[in-house]
Amino acid sequence: MDDVTEPASDEQAPAPPTTPPEPDHGPRVIDTDADAVDGLTKCPRCGATQIALNIGSGMLRCHYCRDEWSTPSANEAFGLDAGVGELRGVTRGSGSSDIVPSAEIVLTFKCSACGAEIVIDTASSTQARCHWCRNTLSMNQQVPNGAVPDMVLPFSLPKEEAVRKIATFVRKRRFFAHPRFRKEFDPDNVLGAYLPYMVVDVNAHAAFSGQGEHQTRSYTVSVGEDRSETRYDADLYDVGRAFDVEVHDLAVVSSQQRLDQGLSTTNNVINAIRPFDLENAVVYDSNYLAGFTSERRDTNIDDLAPIVDAQSKDVARHAVHDTLRFYDRGVRWHSEQLEVRGQRWVSAYLPVWLYSYHQTKRDGRSVTHYVAVNGRTGAVMGSVPINYPRLLLTSAVVEAVGIVVGTAVMIFGGGS
Ligand SMILES: [Zn+2]
Ligand SMILES: [Zn+2]
Repeated sequence: MDDVTEPASDEQAPAPPTTPPEPDHGPRVIDTDADAVDGLTKCPRCGATQIALNIGSGMLRCHYCRDEWSTPSANEAFGLDAGVGELRGVTRGSGSSDIVPSAEIVLTFKCSACGAEIVIDTASSTQARCHWCRNTLSMNQQVPNGAVPDMVLPFSLPKEEAVRKIATFVRKRRFFAHPRFRKEFDPDNVLGAYLPYMVVDVNAHAAFSGQGEHQTRSYTVSVGEDRSETRYDADLYDVGRAFDVEVHDLAVVSSQQRLDQGLSTTNNVINAIRPFDLENAVVYDSNYLAGFTSERRDTNIDDLAPIVDAQSKDVARHAVHDTLRFYDRGVRWHSEQLEVRGQRWVSAYLPVWLYSYHQTKRDGRSVTHYVAVNGRTGAVMGSVPINYPRLLLTSAVVEAVGIVVGTAVMIFGGGS
């Protein structure tokens, strides 16, 4: 790490290349559905197609013979846990490709057991039961509508625990919550949903420059008869920081509806239950989603890139903060540059228990409130309807929603 204090850092943006840039070969693609099979995916022991996640073991279980198995770790299968510092350009999973606008959302599959044509509405599911032979049809091959991701993080928190956490959350906020909300709380309305995210690794180099103040003396002077003032002496330094930043497993919601609510509560609720233990994600198999709903990804890497850039810069700003303790009167950056060297994008379904409540406001508008529970860690956050008449009696308004930036690892390397 360069730590330049006086004279000014001469850290500059990289000089423009003197040779023309390499022709654009597009992103490097990791093939994540090489072995995926559509249609009847059968229990390896008895051949039944009724398979679901056993939350207790984290494995898939056959409904008939109770045999259990799981798909491989996504990190190991796709090499996602290593090499963030070596990333150059864009690398992405094959399940993260751009959505083709004309791609069908409702797809038809032929049941290979009885020949019937079965439709799967990919907006909310990647499975359907054949109504003739009762076999389950799965969609595991990636389609250009964003419904099949690169990986999935299965639920590990049982529904009963999620219900308990939601009940506690609502009870603790009882004073502010609307009486109807409290009265109508119904655990049966807690649903498990796999929400679409992009999981992004970023390799970048940051260069910040500005000025910082270090206090050297404080003393009291008398001004007038019995008044005194405290005064400070401080040295002014030019400050520069240049360092490598690695951001690991930044999870960004990839549903347009959730992004549109970017400044409203829902998106904050969904962000606030991060982080997820993404190192435990597995290779995608629709059977992990049996019994849950899912929401199709409908945004592309280009749509989400500005969010990832902004959050990466936040990570860099936060990382450098700890190195500035000497400047006890603060640092003002004149320039903050983040040069992104490489990114890796992988699409994922992440598990969330959701409780929703529709409130009709006095002006007739309908607002949906959510309490969300991380289906892995149990972290809970929600937006609860506020009882305004009661709130006015108190002087403080407590914002019920917080934001947590995703898990990030900062690596300080030598400045270039
Ligand atoms: Zn079986
Ligand atoms: Zn059939």
